[in-house]
Amino acid sequence: METQSLSYLLVGVLTFGFVVPLFLEYLQVSLPSSKIPDTLAEYLSVDKLAESKSYQRTNFYFKAVTSSFTFLVTLLCVTQGWFGAIDIWIAGFGYSPFINSLLFFGLIFVVSDVLSLPFDYYSTFVIEEKFGFNKTTVHTFFLDKLKAYALSLVVGGGLLLIFLWLIHAMGPQFWWQFWLLAGVFMVLVNVGYTAWILPLFNTLTPLAEGEVRSKLLHYAAKVNFSIQHIFVMDGSRRSAKANAFFSGFGKQKKVVLYDTLLEQHPPEELVAVLAHEIGHYKKRHLKWSMLISLIQVGTLLFLLGQVVFSETMSLALGGSSWSVHLNILGFTMLFAPLTMILGIGMNWLSRKHEFEADQYAKETYGGKPLAEALKTLSVKTLSTIHPHPWYVFVNYSHPPLLQRLQRLEE
Ligand SMILES: [Zn+2]
Repeated sequence: METQSLSYLLVGVLTFGFVVPLFLEYLQVSLPSSKIPDTLAEYLSVDKLAESKSYQRTNFYFKAVTSSFTFLVTLLCVTQGWFGAIDIWIAGFGYSPFINSLLFFGLIFVVSDVLSLPFDYYSTFVIEEKFGFNKTTVHTFFLDKLKAYALSLVVGGGLLLIFLWLIHAMGPQFWWQFWLLAGVFMVLVNVGYTAWILPLFNTLTPLAEGEVRSKLLHYAAKVNFSIQHIFVMDGSRRSAKANAFFSGFGKQKKVVLYDTLLEQHPPEELVAVLAHEIGHYKKRHLKWSMLISLIQVGTLLFLLGQVVFSETMSLALGGSSWSVHLNILGFTMLFAPLTMILGIGMNWLSRKHEFEADQYAKETYGGKPLAEALKTLSVKTLSTIHPHPWYVFVNYSHPPLLQRLQRLEE
């Protein structure tokens, strides 16, 4: 492909990646308010529904501004050849191509993060604050940022180092070698997430003896599920939104409940939430999604391997000659629609898994307590009651509340 046509293609793909998601957001937010369904009558008031609409709308305007800003900056960088100019500037220092690549990505990372910082700040301290979700302080906010930088420097930097080294040293063979490594890494992160990563940001304490704990353990024993650890996470330090999740395989399985979840739900509902999570485990959902992510990563690496050694992309981004980092950056942009399609597939699978986990909880514990828990959760987070079907198809990793309730309550 010629350099000029590739530039046009990039602009087209960037525009597509900007317009389509924003249009879906627009569809979602512009749906007229409908009346409160009977099943939610006790949970939702007219005021609460209006507040939820207002929250959706505020987030839509915010997303429109941030994504327009990101789109314009990226478009300028591509059409004005700024990425290439940065490459030429870095090459002027006279380091090896390998060091140049590290400097290039480091710089892009820092600049894009600095540019997005005011938006993050606004979202947390203005929007989430206004709707009563924000619990974080400015101190924690910036401390989190610093920790995240350190983590990306160590983990992201380390992976990038190996990735670039493989490309430079192994040539076209790099893709499957890095794929193997990425696979090992994904398993490690999953096993070690609660042990290594989470404690950097939150405090985990074992769930104290008492009614909740004994009910949870009693249910787990009934379905033949051994739980080694139930932790309570201080989610309330940052947000009023509640959650629960599982991590690890085999003997290392850990259940993590947010303190906010414990405060908002009676013991029966907590058992139902646990039953749902155990359902994911029993149906091997985690293993399936890991396997599929692995296939996705492999596909993208293979495609990258087909094109990363060509000069055209570097030239199209304004570089003066072949450069690995310009190519990687260019192809991440070029593959964005493919990544989006893969994401739709993953979301579809995830929604299917959610229904199955709900079904498991219904069969082994009962549909009612889970339905009740979902109502409380969803009303508290001001989530949309009647989402647009297209929006759900593309973006929802969980089925809409009413669909889940229908199956749980039938
Ligand atoms: Zn689930």
